[in-house]
Amino acid sequence: MNRALQEALQRLGEPLSPQAVAIGDQTAPGEGAPLVARSPIDGGTLAEFPSAALPQVDAAIEAAARAYLQWRLVPAPARGQFVRAFGEKLRAHKADLATVVTWEAGKIAQEALGEVQEMIDVCEFAVGLSRQLYGKTIASERPGHRLAEQWHPLGPVGVITAFNFPVAVWAWNAAVAWVCGDPVVWKPSEKTPLCALACQAIFRQTLAECQEVPPALSSLVIGGADAGQRIAESTKLPLVSATGSTAMGRAVAATVARRLGRSLLELGGNNGMVVAPSADLELAARSIVFAAVGTCGQRCTTLRRLIVHDSVADALRDRLLRLYERLPIGNPAEGGVLVGPLVDERAASEMEGALAAARDQGGRVHGGGRVAAGVPAGGYYVRPAIVEISPDAPIVQRETFAPILYLMRYHDFADAVAIHNAVPQGLSSAILTSDVREAESFCSASGSDCGIVNVNIGTSGAEIGGAFGGEKDTGGGRESGSDAWKQYMRRATNTVNYSSDLPLAQGIKFDL
Ligand code: NAD
Repeated sequence: MNRALQEALQRLGEPLSPQAVAIGDQTAPGEGAPLVARSPIDGGTLAEFPSAALPQVDAAIEAAARAYLQWRLVPAPARGQFVRAFGEKLRAHKADLATVVTWEAGKIAQEALGEVQEMIDVCEFAVGLSRQLYGKTIASERPGHRLAEQWHPLGPVGVITAFNFPVAVWAWNAAVAWVCGDPVVWKPSEKTPLCALACQAIFRQTLAECQEVPPALSSLVIGGADAGQRIAESTKLPLVSATGSTAMGRAVAATVARRLGRSLLELGGNNGMVVAPSADLELAARSIVFAAVGTCGQRCTTLRRLIVHDSVADALRDRLLRLYERLPIGNPAEGGVLVGPLVDERAASEMEGALAAARDQGGRVHGGGRVAAGVPAGGYYVRPAIVEISPDAPIVQRETFAPILYLMRYHDFADAVAIHNAVPQGLSSAILTSDVREAESFCSASGSDCGIVNVNIGTSGAEIGGAFGGEKDTGGGRESGSDAWKQYMRRATNTVNYSSDLPLAQGIKFDL
């Protein structure tokens, strides 16, 4: 293991002999299949240990269910104080946690730090929220009656996360769930166990300093899809929040639906940007490159489809190609690098396969090859690709989790919107224009059909204050800001009769 990573883990309080199960402050070795985590940087082994067995997943869920009985009685503002303390610990450990993210997920330092900052931001948001879990008072139709809503804690929440946001997505869920009164059982990606263990270590440190917090407020089970399915099956988890591919979301949603549970799905994207003739091309180019090649094209919000007006398409393509040629590709732990590695060999072969399909379907491919010189051996480093292609090519319908940007042309604005919406996914979208009519149309009911609709910025890099998520094959879930908290609570409608009569609703007469 790399020395910087080792030292970061030690400062975080995470022992270097990882264990697959953590129930609050208690850890236990896994009793399941062996698991190996490798660094995308050089393919080196970071951790090798047995994963959690299914009875161990059950034990974590049981512990969370018991913790819920205690935590739901703690007033929400007091729950917020715990989240505030946790956020402070994150602030203190920001650099170390980012180092773990870089080594395990392959993100450049700036993006890894940004990911930890999102965790800190969502903690701040959740602390404020802890005093704002408002219910409505509703005008009753009956004299002497009060009609009102209360929001109560829901129960323990199962959280399944993907490799590419190995810490922030858990925090989006955990910080909000905790203030809402819900313990969390986390099954992280099997590709990023150390990130999860580091988060649990920070939780443990916070726990040690806080009174009246049930330890099983946070538990961790490291395993594969079978552990995820166990979470989806459990009737003790009224909500399962699952982030990952659309295929995973379909499997989780079906299992949760069979038991009539609630699922919050954050799945694949195939994000598009319309570049209109009036766009500021300099601003467009900068926002496109960050959105298309950041995290080596492995963000759910990565820009994958560029829909450019034919009057500016050649100029924009040439500008982008010049910028792409200069991209510093290499070890994400080194300063100055902007594009790190793909996560593993499978991701590299999927990128190759998508580019081959694009060529077969008439696409003109710029870039996209493997980079072997000046990068650590053992990692999968690639040159980001731009593919000029028809919007009718089947390949543009698919999310390939790699830095491939399909460039398509349009003539009429209505066609641009139609091309934009003609894919199964509906996560993030953008328009670059100086024309307010186009901008507002794109944001309107007849514009983009995505959950995130941006004007004059790229598709990636959302702020935590908004509700995050998307439509169609992206799953329909909303996490993080705005009123996403409501999914983590149950609503009770109260009708209180403070009169001495018994008028019935709808004026019904039932004289005895
Ligand atoms: P993945 O679907 O392979 O795995 C995600 C998680 O689901 C992992 O923890 C995995 O173990 C678990 N899992 C897989 N199959 C399962 C099953 N049948 N039942 C239960 N759990 C199962 O995804 P990945 O490769 O880690 O991440 C990349 C994908 O995630 C991309 O499609 C990306 O767009 C998506 N993603 C979406 C968002 C979002 O907010 N919309 C955020 C990050 C990533």
